Amino acid sequence: MLNIGCHLSVSKGYRAMGTQAIKIDANTFQFFTRNPRGSKAKAIDAKDADALLKIMEEHNFAPIIGHAPYTLNPAAADERVREFALEAMEDDLKRMEFVPHNFYNFHPGSHVKQGAEEGIKRAAEVLNRILKPEQSTLVLIETMAGKGTEIGKTFAEVRNLLDGVSLQEKIGVCLDTCHIFDAGYDIVNDLDGVLDEFDQIIGLHRLKAIHLNDSKNPIGSHKDRHEKIGEGAIGWDAFVRIINHPKLRHLPFVLETPNEIEGYQKEIEMLRAAYQDA
Ligand code: FE
Ligand code: FE
Ligand code: ZN
Repeated sequence: MLNIGCHLSVSKGYRAMGTQAIKIDANTFQFFTRNPRGSKAKAIDAKDADALLKIMEEHNFAPIIGHAPYTLNPAAADERVREFALEAMEDDLKRMEFVPHNFYNFHPGSHVKQGAEEGIKRAAEVLNRILKPEQSTLVLIETMAGKGTEIGKTFAEVRNLLDGVSLQEKIGVCLDTCHIFDAGYDIVNDLDGVLDEFDQIIGLHRLKAIHLNDSKNPIGSHKDRHEKIGEGAIGWDAFVRIINHPKLRHLPFVLETPNEIEGYQKEIEMLRAAYQDA
């Protein structure tokens, strides 16, 4: 079975996300752990979290993903900016333990003027201060489009960041199709080649989830503007190959396309229909 879902709003709580996921035939989803500004996070209601866990178990959910606020910058040169990211992420990881054994995805950040190498070192330091041996959550580094001075735009940069982390068993990678396409990886004409490169540089065993997004812009544009599946420069046929690829087909796929819930439901239906059950 294809493990697929979409980004959902956390505003009505955890159980509500589970219920909504089922309504649209999703068996995974993603949510923001707090508002994008990164400040105050609502206290988690343990009963509400338990209700979600029950739904997930009854309906055979794949792991779900808590997404860090995208405004955080753990790679920043400015210490206050970095501390702010650290505090928010550390608190998020405590909160993720209310729904244990799932994923926490974050954007590695922007190096601004320090250069990628320095930015990667800073982000690794943040990870080394927040990852704990006792946590059940796996933290995922998201592959980025390379907008501005974003780090994580090449597989080599992701690998360098991974290498800087001490607790290797707590860290993995989330591949965003729009981001790597915008970063210059040709998943349309050479999916096998891109996956081989990923395997050689990072290792496919580190890949734990996929953000499934089409792109409004051509390959290598470094823009990061998501498009609906099949309506952008990546195109429908490439997505059929991605979800069915023997090296990817078991992973959880999460849509972050510009859609309301009805649009997500339609994309999930189309992709499920295109999945070739083994
Ligand atoms: Fe993201
Ligand atoms: Fe993404
Ligand atoms: Zn994006």
